[in-house]
Amino acid sequence: MKTVLGIDIGATKIRATVSGDDLRITDPVVKRSPAVADPDVFTAELATLVERACSEAGLTPAAISAVGVGSAGPIKRTPEAVLNPPNLPVDNLPIERAVRAAVDTDQVRVLNDAVCGAVAEHEFAGGGTDDMVYLTVSTGLGAGVIVDGRPLGGNTGEVGHLTVDPGMTMECGCGGAGHWEAYCSGVNLPRYARHLSQHGDHGTALSTDGTLSAADIFAAAPDDELAAATLAQFDHWNLIGLADVVHAFAPSYVALGGSVVLHNRDRVLTPLRERLSDHVMVDPPAIGVTEFGDEIVLKGALAVAADQVSPGASPSPQL
Ligand SMILES: [Zn+2]
Repeated sequence: MKTVLGIDIGATKIRATVSGDDLRITDPVVKRSPAVADPDVFTAELATLVERACSEAGLTPAAISAVGVGSAGPIKRTPEAVLNPPNLPVDNLPIERAVRAAVDTDQVRVLNDAVCGAVAEHEFAGGGTDDMVYLTVSTGLGAGVIVDGRPLGGNTGEVGHLTVDPGMTMECGCGGAGHWEAYCSGVNLPRYARHLSQHGDHGTALSTDGTLSAADIFAAAPDDELAAATLAQFDHWNLIGLADVVHAFAPSYVALGGSVVLHNRDRVLTPLRERLSDHVMVDPPAIGVTEFGDEIVLKGALAVAADQVSPGASPSPQL
């Protein structure tokens, strides 16, 4: 049996788990994502997390055959790092180097987290198609793309930075404006609601200060005028963004995931299912919600790790 390690580096937390041939996830260990751009601190903290994950499995890091990492992006290839990620308060973390320092194997592969999600969805669920997209709406917004059964690597999935609003009203965490993520991600939806409150006459019982959350907005709609207006626009931008994704990659299935979707499943899914055909000139894809919940990136990371031990078992992409 080969032992593989999966790591999910998200905007708010990092999770790691060790698995055998079945790639089953049991009790992943979790730590908060780094708040400072100190490579030495990051490397030390990651080593501790890997040791804890191995210890949970009754192993040491020396037992790990291969590692798959799904990280918030964008990712650059050399040196392996997260480059100015809009949703992490740090720059240029040397992820691959840090992981290699924590284990005894050179079999380490770092991919965009949404690409890992797409690998998991395609390999273990997939809707029976080799042309699909995994779209995550969480702290950020991104996609992993499978074409002809092969995941597209690199930063192909940074669809959150597609321009959906030519008026470029809202600034994005990447420094741009009018980007899909600037309106619809979990951290930006409250900012957008505040903007609509300040520039419209929507009545609201919501507190539009810095404490407003995406969860507050979903909970208040449809009774609250501002929340309802915000979500109507949320649907509008999602339809424009998803139509662009469909025209670019022609998926026959789109799996949705990420915390905003998972906590508001039908509210996010239904308008896309009902109205996407009005926005595309090709056959609209089937749309569903991943069954893997918030474990999907870890699941894909394990599959990517396993592919390095047994190439072809899981067709994972190169950066
Ligand atoms: Zn952007």
